[in-house]
Order: sequence, then structure tokens, then C-alpha cells
Amino acid sequence: MAVDATQPYDDQNIFAKILRGEIPCRKVYEDDFSLAFHDINPQAPTHILVIPKGAYVSWDDFSGKASEAEIAGFIRAVGKVARDAGLVAPGYRLLANAGTDSHQEVPHLHVHLFAGRPLGPMLVR
Ligand code: 5GP
Repeated sequence: MAVDATQPYDDQNIFAKILRGEIPCRKVYEDDFSLAFHDINPQAPTHILVIPKGAYVSWDDFSGKASEAEIAGFIRAVGKVARDAGLVAPGYRLLANAGTDSHQEVPHLHVHLFAGRPLGPMLVR
């Protein structure tokens, strides 16, 4: 079911459990502010999720409430994950769903990183 991004943070969401080590993930990268891991249901040859470690529901929540250090750390982590995976030259796509119309499913901010083939049009029309 799509997330109502105006709801308070639910610490039982699946990514909160991954951050606490209660559920495994295929980790790609971790630092003080961020964790990156492979999506369990990849939609491209490379499909990595990058999440902040802080408890933020969505881009709206994060951009409104996170500290400068958290924001800088997270944005740099997204770039580093793509760079370290060798994706700068071939190219990649970032996507962050926020709320009902976007079909956000997990209520912890995540950026999808897609790559590995031509990714087609930006949106289904
Ligand atoms: P959303 O629709 O919220 O933007 O994307 C949620 C993503 O999380 C989906 O691409 C889905 O495959 C992925 N996902 C859901 N549960 C898990 C899980 O337990 N582990 C991993 N690695 N990915 C998950």
C-alpha cells in the first residue's frame, strides 16, 4: 500500500529493521549517515537503494528536518555509491518516491539508483 508521507515515522518499517540488523540486506556501502544495499526486487541490472540512517519518512520529512551534516552526508553517499559502482560514464537514474501519488511503499526515505541498461522514458504516460 502506498505511504501517506504526512504520517509520523513508523520504526517497524522494513528499512528501520534493516538498519537495526533485524533483517539482512546485501550491503553496498555504509557510513555515519547512510546505508546502501541492493533492492530485493531489482528493476534494472543495477538497482541499489540508498537510505539515510536517521528516522525520516520521505524526502519532504528529510529536507525539512534533517541537519546540514545528515543532508550533506546522504547526498554525498548517493554520489559515491554511483561513482564507486562505475556508473558515472555509462549513466544512471536516481528516483525518490514520496507519498501516495508516487506509490512510495516503504515509509523510510530511500533513493533508488538504477543503471546497467538504457533506462527508457522517465515516466509511464
Ligand atoms: P518504493 O516503492 O517505496 O519507492 O520502493 C520500495 C523498494 O523497496 C522496492 O523497490 C522494493 O523492492 C524494495 N524492498 C522492499 N522490501 C525490501 C527488503 O526487505 N529488502 C530490500 N533489499 N528491498 C526491499
